[in-house]
Amino acid sequence: MTMTSRSAAMFDAAKRVIPGGVNSPVRAFNSVGGTPRFIAEAHGPYLVDVDGNELVDLVCSWGPMLLGHAHPQVIEAVTTAAARGTSYGAPTQAETELVETIIERAPAEQLRLVNSGTEATMSVLRLARGVTGRDKIVKFAGCYHGHADSLLASAGSGLATLGIPGTPGVTAGTTADTIVLPYNDREAVTAAFAEHGADIAALITEASPGNMGVVPPAEGFNAFLAATAHEHGALFVSDEVMTGFRVTRSGYYGIDKVEPDLVTFGKVMGGGFPCAAFGGRAEYMAQLAPLGGVYQAGTLSGNPIAAAAGTTTLKLATEEVYAGIDKRAGELSSAVTEALSAAGVPHVLQHAGNMFSVFFTDAPAVPDYATAAAQDTTAYAAFFHAMLDAGVYLPPSAFEVWFLSAAHDDAAIDKVISALPAAARAAA
Ligand code: PLP
Repeated sequence: MTMTSRSAAMFDAAKRVIPGGVNSPVRAFNSVGGTPRFIAEAHGPYLVDVDGNELVDLVCSWGPMLLGHAHPQVIEAVTTAAARGTSYGAPTQAETELVETIIERAPAEQLRLVNSGTEATMSVLRLARGVTGRDKIVKFAGCYHGHADSLLASAGSGLATLGIPGTPGVTAGTTADTIVLPYNDREAVTAAFAEHGADIAALITEASPGNMGVVPPAEGFNAFLAATAHEHGALFVSDEVMTGFRVTRSGYYGIDKVEPDLVTFGKVMGGGFPCAAFGGRAEYMAQLAPLGGVYQAGTLSGNPIAAAAGTTTLKLATEEVYAGIDKRAGELSSAVTEALSAAGVPHVLQHAGNMFSVFFTDAPAVPDYATAAAQDTTAYAAFFHAMLDAGVYLPPSAFEVWFLSAAHDDAAIDKVISALPAAARAAA
């Protein structure tokens, strides 16, 4: 029996002062049940919880930890930066260096740094509306772009709809300009633009969705989206917060070369610190304050410690690093399929480069949110807990991605693979 008494006590204490005991809902294990592990430290591919259990980490802080935890060169860069002061509220060379490092490999001429993916998508849509003078945006059901009000519209619905709030606290007025469409559905996109085209400022999509589990775009879908948006004078916005610098050196753009007008990044580019960015064509970025009238700002934006962590991480993320993670992801995902098949558990495993997730479903494929939402989350919970008991930390939700890092070596992967057969039987 795994010891979790210290995590349980800390969770109780946290719940007294923090709603649900957590500062981001899915950390509470609400969809899989049980006690969330409180983490004491992390190194390489492992988390160590406060009861001393060492867990192979397949969450990687929800994507950012591409190099693994506490990478010595990242820690050194951060320590050196911190010793010089933690925030200045004035420009630094470190910010320019991070932006140069990004635009050298990704589809943007200019970027502005912010503190979270939420801020990046919120700001990019304000800019798109400012640039076009239009109000409406198009997003897809099951695509998560952070928790800005206008983007929480029907995040859990598979229906094309107008203006239905996805959460209490978001007004119908706020989401009235958000059009939500089913993913991978060209006809729905064509129909929405035929009806509202002249009012649509932007279409925003995850470059390859990971927030309903991995649901890659069908062949040519991103190109079709960009072309349809442009035909109607709208901007094509690619959200690479999750995929950026995670699936290739240049993000999902490295797999599917569709040029966005505007793009968002986060997660990996901050090297484990709160740091994100939005950007794109210089002519659009010139409309941001102080050059133009579209206002956007941030006390801690471009923080020198985050910039140092981000630049160091990106510079260490060579082609060899991605090749290694891709190889491990291939090995691991094959082992998952093998174990689930042997146990007779219906499932679909989907990839976007080295990101993958498993849907417990008897559907032949998962092309959209409606299909993802119909999976057997009870089977996932049983699988999740069997893996956790065996020392493997999977995402505590059936709708998330399994992330690997460059630090996931043979020992870590072997530990995961050897836990799979029993977990698959638990899910059967
Ligand atoms: N966009 C995408 C595609 C994401 O996956 C996320 C977070 O998971 C966000 C935006 C929001 O980023 P953050 O959690 O940093 O606000």
